[in-house]
Amino acid sequence: MTEIHLTGRAASPGLAIGPVTVLSAVIASRRVAGDPAHETAALKAAIEAATADLAALVEAEQGDAADILQFQVAMLEDEALAEGAFDAIEEGTAADQAWCSVLDAEIAGYRAAEDEVFRARVADLVDIRDRVLAHLNGADKPAAITGGSIVASEDISPSTFLAADWTRGGAILLAAGSSSSHVAMLARARGAPMVVGLGPLSWEGRPPALALVDGDAGTVIFDPEPETRRQFEQRISAANAARAIIDAGRAEPALTADGRRITVLLNIAAPDDLKGLDPAICDGIGLVRTEFLFEASHGLPDEETQYAVYRRILEWADGRPVTIRTLDAGGDKPVAGLTADGESNPFLGLRGIRLALARPEVFRMQLRALARAAVHGVLKVMLPMVAVPSELERARALLEEEIAALKAKGILCARPPLGIMVEVPAAALCAGDFKAAFYSIGSNDLTQYTMAAARDIGAVADLNDTGNPAVLELIARTVEAGRARGVEVSLCGDAAADTRLTRALLATGLTTLSVSPVAVARLKATIATVSP
Ligand code: PEP
Ligand code: MG
Repeated sequence: MTEIHLTGRAASPGLAIGPVTVLSAVIASRRVAGDPAHETAALKAAIEAATADLAALVEAEQGDAADILQFQVAMLEDEALAEGAFDAIEEGTAADQAWCSVLDAEIAGYRAAEDEVFRARVADLVDIRDRVLAHLNGADKPAAITGGSIVASEDISPSTFLAADWTRGGAILLAAGSSSSHVAMLARARGAPMVVGLGPLSWEGRPPALALVDGDAGTVIFDPEPETRRQFEQRISAANAARAIIDAGRAEPALTADGRRITVLLNIAAPDDLKGLDPAICDGIGLVRTEFLFEASHGLPDEETQYAVYRRILEWADGRPVTIRTLDAGGDKPVAGLTADGESNPFLGLRGIRLALARPEVFRMQLRALARAAVHGVLKVMLPMVAVPSELERARALLEEEIAALKAKGILCARPPLGIMVEVPAAALCAGDFKAAFYSIGSNDLTQYTMAAARDIGAVADLNDTGNPAVLELIARTVEAGRARGVEVSLCGDAAADTRLTRALLATGLTTLSVSPVAVARLKATIATVSP
């Protein structure tokens, strides 16, 4: 047997070795009743059962994983999805055929979409199709993946991924797939190497027994020769040893090679992201994205819910500063019932602070919850998508009014400093004009607005580069404005965790970077290599 080398696209980094499990869809055949009323009832029951299965999985997950499964539940609950199938049943088509052809048309539309984000959702739709079909046809649920195996498949659904135990190793190899898919996001978060776009995986009836996966290079070797395997195992041992050294430095302060102290803060999307984390790994929290509160409660979490969440985060930080960002809905973060529908370009529309000021009742409630939470630690409040100073001043006026109202009622509260995100080029160019208590650079949006290259369109990914001199110049100007006004400037976009950019970012004068918890150890190790 000769070893087989394949090259695809890297979707999640890391090295893995293990037995190969080939996943293939098995859809049982079904006896058709022929009676439209019976077929309609069968399809409705199957959709309900599939929805209930996914809803049960949502319960068992948190954060991104729960959001991803919730997206599938929402699709199944959308009556418009199955409308065409029910029409076809009325005309005499069997329930499974009707459902399949409607979903296949929908899947084909997503597959052909120009936008990478839509193409990346194909696996979620295929999963919806097959789950309903399995209920209709009485087929068994898809087989669970054994921990530690290398899963080879055409594509894979988030729910199949989430059912496996990735703490035991393993990897994912996909003939198709996308590095922007939900599964790719989950694989990166759980440390499972993944390679996509490998092309047809045809084994002619004899699937390989073992695979070596390189998720950094996007390569795989099936059924390796003993010498190839030995060399690969040596690489895994070396990588594990290097990671252990990096992890050991996680709780140490970040110092450059020439001894400059760099402040490293955390970005979190929900308090659950802090579970099991030692606050000693960071100098505080640089960004709490509060959108999750609004997504989970369909538009309006009440004041008590918000206060409890903010307080929990402050208590975790144990005296370290915590920067909570007010609602940044809109753009790529729609919130049902809150954000505007049908904007021709949501990234340039009513989002961030613009939406907050347009919906003062929602904004005031959040400011009240924040002012009350401020007595439990060192809270800083940050406004997103600010373009002109008057937005900051209008927000400040609302905060003052809410603090006065709380005090009048004898409710304990404090006045947190109010800072701005610098993510619109206008704000970067005129940063000194804002009476902000601090600036935090949102490099994700600042880059897309400076380069006119959306953050979620794969075809322009090369242009969406924070290392471009134009973006670095805007960052340097913001740093200079902060220095002149004597206020802190941090950077909390994804570029802070991109260690290829660490040297360039520190060269702009930045001394504070905010990254997700998984990125802390690597960032600190990289900072230690930077000298002037
Ligand atoms: C940014 O734009 O860099 C940022 C941190 O905000 P978000 O990614 O939430 O838009
Ligand atoms: Mg942003």
